[in-house]
Formats: sequence, structure tokens, C-alpha cells
Amino acid sequence: MKSLWVFHVNTGACNGCDIEILDVLTPYYDIERLGVKLVPTPRHAHALLVTGPLTRQAYHAAKMAYEAMPPKPRIVIAVGTCACSGGIFHDSYALRREYRESLEYPLKGGTSEFLPVHLYIPGCPPRPEEILYGVALLKNIVEKKVRGRRFSEGTFVLPRESFNAWVEVLLRARIRKELGYFDGYSLLRRFMELVESSESKEELEKLVEKTINDEGDSRLRYGLEKLYSYYLEVVRTYEGILAAKRALVGLPK
Ligand code: SF4
Repeated sequence: MKSLWVFHVNTGACNGCDIEILDVLTPYYDIERLGVKLVPTPRHAHALLVTGPLTRQAYHAAKMAYEAMPPKPRIVIAVGTCACSGGIFHDSYALRREYRESLEYPLKGGTSEFLPVHLYIPGCPPRPEEILYGVALLKNIVEKKVRGRRFSEGTFVLPRESFNAWVEVLLRARIRKELGYFDGYSLLRRFMELVESSESKEELEKLVEKTINDEGDSRLRYGLEKLYSYYLEVVRTYEGILAAKRALVGLPK
């Protein structure tokens, strides 16, 4: 394909990605030299360029734009981490709320939840050079520099530090709802220091109990109790998944 006519939809972006798209159109980066042109209607577009997480408000409009495009080639390009996977908005109130909304809406906000994505350009926001590289890749002008790797059961051991980092991400979303950003995050850091310094579940239980008893602020005491119960819940789920995986491939417990 010599030229690529693109229709841009912002499905809930913070505007950071949109500014970078404008950047690649300036004479400095000049994406038009690769034959790329922004068009004002999806009816003339070869590609749909999506920025931002897919919010409930934008869902139907984005779907209508996709359906209005000519049937071929109907390329979808997700620009920015939000469009790739929901990014920092993955648990936002503007996306589908689990159990409360129709299953039709995407849950985490990634474009691939409702459209077949051909090109992902991650980054928050991606630099103009990355957008240029992605488009050049799509047009077969350059070679792909990175290769995907697959881990199979038994070859990949989850390191302890990564496990704690993963738990912290899960707990962060929950404590933020209980105590807000500032208090929630600083309390979570305190709690994770207890987790990192304890060698066993029993030791952690004692440390948490002592910290709760020593804490003078009842709000933080409540937060610590919540964090501990969430933590146990996450660990139980993780252990359950591990046990199920081991049983599936016949590994010893
Ligand atoms: S990826 Fe970053 S810059 Fe782009 S919409 Fe999301 S938050 Fe904004």
C-alpha cells in the first residue's frame, strides 16, 4: 500500500497521545512523506487510529467509525498505552464496571477488547519517532526489531520481588478507593515494607498486628486491616492458581 489514509478517534485519552500525533504531522517529522494522511471521515480511511482507553461514552462512536470504514483493509492502530491496554485508566469509573454494566462494554479499556488491532504503539505517550517507526513497520519499510518470547510451564519462576510488585499493583487500586491517593499510597508503602521484611505468613501477621496496635490514627488502622485482608485474599488466589496449574501439567505439589 503506497498511501495510508487514517481516521483518528480519541476514545478517552488525556490528550497527550493526540499532541504527539499532531507532532508527527509537523514539517519536522513529516509523516506525510510516508504517504500517511489524516482524513476527516472514516468512509475514506484505510486505518482507524485509536488513542486513549475505550470509555463507555466513546464505545458506540468508535464502533460506528470502524463499521463506516471501507471493508478492506480496515487496519486498526492503537497509539499509547491506554489504547493498547487501558493504561493508567484501566480501573477508571468511566470504563465498564464489573457486574454492573452490560458485558458489551470493554472492561479494561484496551482497544483489542472490541476491535482487531493490527499495530500497537505503546508509550505514555509514545514519542513521535516511535509512531513513525510503527507506521513504517506497518508499511513494510523497516524490519521488526523485537521478537516475542514465550515462557512454558516449568521454565519460568516468578521471582519474589516481582510477586510483591504484582501484589502491590493489585492492592493499590483497592486502597485508593478506601483512603484516597495520598494516604492510600503511603499506607500501602508502609504495608509492603512489612511484607518485604517478613519471612513467613506468621511473622507478617505479628508485624501487622503490632503496627495496627501502635497506630494512633483510627483511619489508618482501618486501612491496615483492609490491606492485610486484601493481601491474604490475593495470596490465596495466587496459591490456588499455582496449584491448579501444577495439577494440570502433572507437577508435584
Ligand atoms: S497513554 Fe499516556 S498520554 Fe496517552 S492517553 Fe494514556 S495517559 Fe494520556
